[in-house]
Formats: sequence, C-alpha cells, structure tokens
Amino acid sequence: MDTQDDDVRRKDTNDQLCTVSDSQFLHGLIEWDQASIEAVNKLCRAFLWKNKREVLGGQCLVTWDVVTMPKRQGGLGIRNLRLQNRALMANLASKLLSGTDGPCFGWLARWYLQNSIPHTANQQDTAFWRSMLKLIPGIQSATECFPSAGDRTSFWHDKWTNMGRLNETFSVLYSFATDTHCTIQSQMTDGEWELGLFAPLSDTAHQQLLQLMDRLQHIQLQGDYDRRKMIVTGREPTTKDLYTLFSDRGMHWQQYEWVWQCSIPHRHKFFLWLAFRGRLNTKDNMIAKSWCHEAGCDQCPALESVHHIALHCRTSSWVWTQLGLQHTAATASSISQFVQEAQTNISDNTWPVCFAACLLGLWKARNDRVFNCKQISCQTLLTQIADYLRLWTCRARRDKQKLLTWAHRISINTS
Ligand SMILES: [Zn+2]
Repeated sequence: MDTQDDDVRRKDTNDQLCTVSDSQFLHGLIEWDQASIEAVNKLCRAFLWKNKREVLGGQCLVTWDVVTMPKRQGGLGIRNLRLQNRALMANLASKLLSGTDGPCFGWLARWYLQNSIPHTANQQDTAFWRSMLKLIPGIQSATECFPSAGDRTSFWHDKWTNMGRLNETFSVLYSFATDTHCTIQSQMTDGEWELGLFAPLSDTAHQQLLQLMDRLQHIQLQGDYDRRKMIVTGREPTTKDLYTLFSDRGMHWQQYEWVWQCSIPHRHKFFLWLAFRGRLNTKDNMIAKSWCHEAGCDQCPALESVHHIALHCRTSSWVWTQLGLQHTAATASSISQFVQEAQTNISDNTWPVCFAACLLGLWKARNDRVFNCKQISCQTLLTQIADYLRLWTCRARRDKQKLLTWAHRISINTS
C-alpha cells in the first residue's frame, strides 16, 4: 500500500514538475499578448499589496514598473513578465544560433537558416518565427561567436574574428554584399573563401576586400557546432543572463545595501524599502490620495511624512540623542542623507541594521498613537528597539557582537 501511495505521490509530483517545465517551455515559445500579461500582473499586484484578488489603485504604494525592477536598481526583484517571456524566447533563439544538438533546432535551422540568418520576416513565416526574428539582432550584438561549421554564424553581423563585426570594420565592402545576412559557411567553397559581392567594386571596396582576404586566409572551418558566449559574462547565454541584460537600466539604487541586509527579517526589509521610497501611508501621502484631511503630526506642529517621523519628530529625538546622532538627524533633509552621513562618521557596517530597528520602533510607536491612542514612553521605545536588535542577531551570519553592542548602547540608560 505504501509503495502504491509512493508511486501515486511520485506521479503527482512528476506531473506537477512537467506542468511547470511545460509552462516555462510554452512561455518561451509564444510571445505573450499584452492583455494576458496585464491580467496576470493585476492578480500579482492584488496579491502583493492586499493579499486579495483585487486591489484599488491607491492601495498600490509603488508602481508595478518599479516593483518589477531588480533589487539593485531599486525594485523588489519580482519578475517582469514581458521581459521574462522575452528572455525565455531569446534563450531558445540563442540555442538555435549556437548550433545546439536537438531535433527541433536542426529542423528549424533546415527550414529557416539555409545559408543566411535573416532579420526580417517573409509573409509566409509563422508567428513563432516572427517572434524569434525580433530577438536575433539583440542576441548577435550581445554575444561573440566561435564558429566550427559556420552554419549558424552571420558572416557580416556576428563578432567572430578579432577584427570586430565585419559590417562595421569593412562598411564599404559590406555595402556590396549580395546577401548581408549570409552565414560564414555560405561564403566558403571547397575550403576557399568566395564572398558574394556585387561587381564592379569601388576602389575603396576593393582595398577593403584585399585587407579582409589577407586576414581571413588563415581561418578554416572545422567541427560540428558553432558556439556563442555572452560578451558581458563570458558564458553561454542562459535565461537568467538574458533577463539581466533586458532588465538592466544602468543604474544603482543607493539604498540597496541598507535595505537588503540578511539580518533584517523579510517583512521589515519590505517596510524599509517603502520608507526609503517615501511610500509609507503617512499623512502627507494620504492627503495626496484624499484619504484624510488632516496632514499634521499628532505630536508636533509639522507635516507628517516619513522623514519627519524618522528624523525630526519629538519621539525620534529620544532615539538619536541616545545614539549621539541628534545633530545629524536635525540637519538631514532625507532619511537617505541621514543614514549616509551617520555611516561616514560611525564607520560600522552594521549601522544600517541599527537604523532599521530604530525606524521600525518609531513607526510602531506612531501607529500605536494614531490607531490605538496609546502613548509610548522613551524607555519603552528604546527597550523595544534594543529587543529588535537582539532578536535579529539570530539571523546575522556574522557581526552578531556588533548588533549586541548597538542594542546595549540603545538600552544602556533605560534599564
Ligand atoms: Zn512630530
């Protein structure tokens, strides 16, 4: 009976795995239409912000475009479905252009890549192949080739010699090419180079032809499969590398190292991420959404914003005075500037974790006042922050002692 149960369970697991791998495979074969992607994004947004099936616009604290950016660039690292779809398809296209062994790649190459690697579709081409064609120029520009048979490498557009891309290095000669998308293999007959060029050549084109043939005469094609490697990573393209390539916006979010510390629990990282983005539900943000009509802090005559709660409010002064950072907090114009300036003075890599605990304590104290009409004393607040730090040492891989020192400094006069 146990054996039968095991078999059933194994089959179920296999079916689930097949379903997942099949959906990934299909996701990489078909270009998703925008309506489908938007429908899935809508469900993801509702799950992230409200853990429900639907969510109102104002309840989404950060735009989905930012949420799906990589963490290092200021997002939450949730996959952008459009880019993930493109990366899966690009991975398939790169395998096709790498001469990968496999019946489907052989069949596609015989059907579509006879002596040339086209960039534009014909009228009779299928939707699948049209999607692939859109990705081929990008793959060619992101990779360098190591041709063996030369049947999957573009003679003019791929980088396969130390002369760079031949269409750029020999641009005048390139303008005489009979087929600008021809493969390397198609330009060689019986081991001799025979380039397809319109005659007669101009003087410049003739000069370039002589230079090119001089450089190519030592190159011979041998072997079965052409290989491609990403120029950035030096590895064969993977879906992950291609997704990174597509999603890279060339920027670095300064607060990345402060938020994504392993010592801080995940839900508090999320809170910090919102705080640094200024997207917590403070009264300044709620006024903008017409959710309330009173924007003042409940403790002092000032606009309630995350910067005010963290740096300038009466409660926050208890914390920063205790740590000797009162002047830095009073003069900082944003919490990012405060963390940066304090880090420069303190030179302790665990300072951002201490700041996270302090900010969390201040935020909970604010929520207790606003929602529960509960005033918290200075001693209780500092003890709570010290307790967070002591608790988080369990998650810290190293620097446990430094976190305990922060906890001790926070609570030294409160016991
Ligand atoms: Zn205040």
